[in-house]
Amino acid sequence: MLRWTNLKKVYLPDMRWPEAEKAFEETDIAILAVGAIEQHGPHLPLAVDHIHASGIARRVAEKAGVILAPYIQFGYCPWNSDFPGNISIRYNVLANLVKDVCHSLIRHGTQKILIINGHGGNTGPLSLAARQLKEETGAFFVISDWWTVMTEFARKEHKGHGGSHGVSLLLALTPDRSDLVDLNEAKKLQPIKPLSNNIIPKNESKSIFKSCTVEIPINTREISENGSLATEPPIYATRQEGEKILEIVVNYFVDLINEMRTL
Ligand SMILES: [Zn+2]
Repeated sequence: MLRWTNLKKVYLPDMRWPEAEKAFEETDIAILAVGAIEQHGPHLPLAVDHIHASGIARRVAEKAGVILAPYIQFGYCPWNSDFPGNISIRYNVLANLVKDVCHSLIRHGTQKILIINGHGGNTGPLSLAARQLKEETGAFFVISDWWTVMTEFARKEHKGHGGSHGVSLLLALTPDRSDLVDLNEAKKLQPIKPLSNNIIPKNESKSIFKSCTVEIPINTREISENGSLATEPPIYATRQEGEKILEIVVNYFVDLINEMRTL
């Protein structure tokens, strides 16, 4: 059944309960944004993954007229625990947190949930949660990492953890927060250290040996003193570039929500 809405508020925590009651009658679709509080190098704030996921999700919810669930700021990122300020929750804690939030939404009438993910390390816990929720409730789930949309539609190669596209998007999402990004620090970033002569790490779990990807769990500090895993220093990051990426990614997710309406 098609359900077109005209919600005055989309963010569930902002609603009074009668408003929430009406919102759940208006739409059976909700968005859940999941981020992380994790270092990305000395040039970026710890909340960057949360700011990306929540900022995209809010714009999509407002444009598409669907419920926006309370943000989950925490993610699974134990490999960054050597860096001050990193907060990681356990794999099963994240999966169960997502499950409990979704069970509550489903109890109130939500039947379809789009999870917008802001952090690569969350992929496993989110996939586990959605699979179990489908078995337990029959609800429909879509999980998407925003950067895969950027790579496909903005034709931008992802420049890695702390790289320029993420910085540009952060600048676009926080136009009045000049204290968050330090581009002078970005200029000083060093390349990732190889593990051996022939094992080249890509990130905390994937490395390349003889052009084949192998899985090697490593801590970020073993391969990067500064914490960034960018493939080049993000010196070309700009707010304008971020706004372009944001528009493309938000429009993609609005199309996806409209497709979910037809199910
Ligand atoms: Zn991350």
